[in-house]
Formats: sequence, C-alpha cells, structure tokens
Amino acid sequence: MTNTKYDTIIIGSGIGGLTTAVLLSKIYNQKVLVLEQHFVPGGQTHEFSRVKDGQKFSWDVGVHYVGEMKKGLLPRKIFDYITDNRLEWNKMPHYFEKFVYPDFSFKQPANPKEFQKSLIEQFPTEEKGIKRYFLDIKEVAKWFQTYMMGKVMPSWANSLIGFFRKDNSKLALSTTKEYLDSIIEDEKLKALLTSIWGDYGTPPEKSAFIMHCLVVRSYLYGGYFPVGGASSIAKNMIPIIEKGGGSVKTNINVEKIIIKNNKAIGVKVSYKKESMELFADRIVSDAGAFNTYLKLIPPIVDIPFREEIKNAMSGFSTNTLYLGLKDSPSKLGIKGENHWINTSYDHDKTYEESGKTGDILSAFISFPSMKNPLAKTHTAEIISFSQYDSFSKWKDTKWMKRGDDYLKYKEELSSKLLDFADKYIPGIKELTVYTELSTPLTMEYFTKWEKGSFYGVPVTPERYKHKWISPKTPVKNLYLTGSDAGSLGVVGAMFGGVSSIGAIKGISGFIKVMKMAGR
Ligand SMILES: Cc1cc2nc3c(=O)[nH]c(=O)nc-3n(C[C@H](O)[C@H](O)[C@H](O)COP(=O)(O)OP(=O)(O)OC[C@H]3O[C@@H](n4cnc5c(N)ncnc54)[C@H](O)[C@@H]3O)c2cc1C
Repeated sequence: MTNTKYDTIIIGSGIGGLTTAVLLSKIYNQKVLVLEQHFVPGGQTHEFSRVKDGQKFSWDVGVHYVGEMKKGLLPRKIFDYITDNRLEWNKMPHYFEKFVYPDFSFKQPANPKEFQKSLIEQFPTEEKGIKRYFLDIKEVAKWFQTYMMGKVMPSWANSLIGFFRKDNSKLALSTTKEYLDSIIEDEKLKALLTSIWGDYGTPPEKSAFIMHCLVVRSYLYGGYFPVGGASSIAKNMIPIIEKGGGSVKTNINVEKIIIKNNKAIGVKVSYKKESMELFADRIVSDAGAFNTYLKLIPPIVDIPFREEIKNAMSGFSTNTLYLGLKDSPSKLGIKGENHWINTSYDHDKTYEESGKTGDILSAFISFPSMKNPLAKTHTAEIISFSQYDSFSKWKDTKWMKRGDDYLKYKEELSSKLLDFADKYIPGIKELTVYTELSTPLTMEYFTKWEKGSFYGVPVTPERYKHKWISPKTPVKNLYLTGSDAGSLGVVGAMFGGVSSIGAIKGISGFIKVMKMAGR
C-alpha cells in the first residue's frame, strides 16, 4: 500500500464505498484504495458462515430484499454497470411480504394494481384514501430526485429543474403519520400501510413521508435477492477495482483523516499494532456523517455543524437471531416471503418499547436460503428492533469477551425470539439446529455505526433539511459516500456512491455515470 500512488482512498467497503471505487476506476481510470476495518469486505452487504455437524450455514447481514432490480430500471442498470453485468438477481415469490397483526394478516402481491385492489377489498370504506395514497406515493417520491440533484448540481441548474417540477416538499417533509392521518381513518389500515417501517428504521410518528414513499415505491413490483447471496455484490465489484490498479484491504482501521490547510491529503491507519500514513489526491468516506465529522476529522478542523450531527443521531438498532435449519422452510409452507409480525397496531409504541421490557413486540423473519438458488443449506433470520440503551452496560467490553452476564442475556433473548417466531410459524423451532444472536453492540463493533444505528442519520423530516447530508464536505478533496451521502438501504447507499461522483467530478460526472449505465 505504501509503495503505490493511489488517486483516491476510500474509507469503508460498504456498497457506497465500493460503488464510488468502481465508478472512479471504470470511468476515470483511477487507482483506488479501499480501506476496511472489518476482516471481510462489503460492509452491511457481507455474509458470514458457521459450520455445525458438517453443514455450512451462511447468512446475509444487511440484505433481505432489494426493489427495482427488474432489467431496464435505473437502479438495476447501475448495479449491472458496477458489477460488469455479472450479478444476477432472483425475484422473490409473487406474494413477497406477509404482514401479521393480532386479528388479521395481509399478503402483499408484487403488483401495485393488485395490491391496491386487495387493500380496498379488506378496507372498503377507505377506498378514496387508498387510491389517493397510491397516487401520492409515486408523485412525492419524485421530490427526492430534485433533492439529490440539489446536492451535486450548481444552484442555477437546480432552480431550473425546480421550475418545471411540482413542488411536493411540504408533503415529502411531513411525517408519515401526519400524511396518513390526513387521508385515512382506520387505525388498522394505517398500521398495515406502515408495516415496513423497519425498512427505514424510523416509525410513522418520526419518519419523513418521503422515505416511506421511496421504500414503498421501490417494492411495488416485488423484491429481489442477489443470486449467490449478498456477498456476491462485493465479489463482483472488487475485481473491477483491482483491474484498474486499485485494491480493497481489510483489517485496516482508519483512525484519522489527515488535513492540511483545510485540504484532505491522506489518512492515518492502524493495522494490527502498527500505524502508518497513506496519501492520495482525494479521500472519500463511507463511514457515515457521524464517524467522519466527529471521529475522523481532527477536532481542530472547523466543522460548523458538529453539534447538530451529535444531536441528530439516535440509538435505533436490532437484535438478529441467525438460524441454521435442518430442512427446507418450505416444509412449513414458506415460499421465501418475508414475515412481518406485530403484536400491536401502534408502531410508534413498539419502537419506543422494543428492548425495554424484555418482551418481543414485533419481528421480521426472512428466509435467505429460499431466495438464493445457489444456497446449499437452509437458514432463517429473526430480526427484532432494539434500543442500544438495553446493552449500554456492556459497551466498554470487548467483542467475544463481554462476560457471562452478557452471554446469559443473549441466551434468554435468543429463546424468546425463537419462541416468538414459533408461535406465528409453528415448527420453525423444531427445524432449528443452530442459533447465533447479534445485538446492537455486534452491529457497532462490525460496522462502526454509532450505537449500532446502521441506517445512519435517522430519516426524520429534519434529515432532509441538513446541508451536511451530502457527498460534499467543507474540507477540500474530502467527500462522503453511502447512506449519509444518498439514502439508506442497498440502493440508497449505492446512489450515495453515484452522487459522490457528482460531487468529485461535477455535474458532468453525474451525467457520465447515467450515460455509461444507460448503455
Ligand atoms: C439487519 C439489517 C437488515 C437490512 N436489510 C436490508 C434490506 O433488506 N434491503 C436493503 O436495501 N437494505 C437493508 N439494510 C440496510 C443496508 O444494508 C444498508 O443501508 C447499506 O448496506 C449501507 O451501506 P453503506 O455503504 O452506507 O454502509 P456500510 O455497509 O455500513 O459500510 C460502511 C463500512 O465502513 C467501514 N468503516 C467504518 N469506519 C471505518 C474506519 N474508521 N476505517 C475503516 N473502515 C471503516 C465499516 O466497517 C463498513 O464496512 C439492512 C441492514 C441491516 C443491518
């Protein structure tokens, strides 16, 4: 690393970091060095495996389904471009979501007209509101394009676009709850429409309606899963970076960004017990706004919005129970769909209370092996929302050495999660031969997101007003990529990677990416 002159150094190998790296290598012939503190690349798109009784089980940490991967759609075109067309996507079953509530359940079909019809059949008195909702989802989602363009385009060009576009900012920046309260009466229907709030980690009362629109719109035609599992994403991107003379190095922790005269010139890194300095023409951070501005940029560098960032973060995270199964979940009638199980219609209450009482209030259950045609063994994941505070007493302990009380707590939680899942999917417990639990501390350790808040800065209406949610930074030659430069989720963070090219190369860079992906 020290002998090569790199054009760009990227901190973090999540989908945001890898997207920026591939685009710089492929379009601009740059030598890019990606530095990852974890021992595997990919960030939240990485996979891990365990062997039990000769069977190898693999799980995807942060990819359960991705929308808009139909050939020809823009997100798919960009994915094809950044993976040299090598990554295939498997479509989930037609009924790809099952929402379960105390007195009803609902299966979402991968077709918006059918989805709307089923909702009207179940809630006939709300027909008018349901129809309005489907129109607004698509219309308001368009606001995000104008918003993102504003981050990379000169202000005159942005005003010009704004002139031709309907201004939906009021609706986009209301909360999801405010919006739904204005068009729908039935509390059960409101709950059903926001069942997927976990996809953006912020419940209806706190989330910006724009984020709800983006997620709902992206899944209107169903969900997709990478063939070969989530790790196929990084596996197909890294060779492109290497072909350009660059490299992706794991186990390298960036401790500091070296800044001289308000210009980023390099990074100070540690590898095992050694530390060294590496230099490049520009630095791009996929480590999120919190880490970049509060931990990596030295405090002496004037950043006017440090306090704002500190106050914007929250401790939302998850407990995930990874299951190794002795047989296919199809034995239980599962076809590969996601199961969202709720004990209440009040998602805001669930959010506030999750992890506080020790009771499991809701869970998302996913069956990765049924979505990946190349999977050799069967697995499942039970994800339940959790507050970091329930784990903060162990925050200063080290991974794998957190103590017996932590292990005991995890054991109890694992049993509760499995019992909870078995109540709604009878037989899943009997099928389980291996379990392992990750907590917000695991998430924090492996991804470095503050308090395990892996979605980055929460998607409240305030997020969209912060100037620092942007690929541009006040430091010359320093840029952001990933979730906090674009949006959350795999596609959102990938677009963060695209927007960083717009910030580095100007509007022509952005247009070039679109042109290359469009070919
Ligand atoms: C349980 C769970 C389920 C999810 N399900 C889905 C889903 O179904 N669909 C979907 O679209 N999204 C899902 N997501 C979210 C999605 O995976 C993320 O939003 C997205 O992958 C984030 O990408 P990123 O590049 O912004 O960040 P990350 O993937 O977090 O990458 C950041 C990288 O930077 C590294 N890093 C940080 N600091 C340093 C440092 N100082 N030095 C070196 N390296 C550093 C980290 O180790 C990490 O690898 C899920 C996430 C989780 C956790």
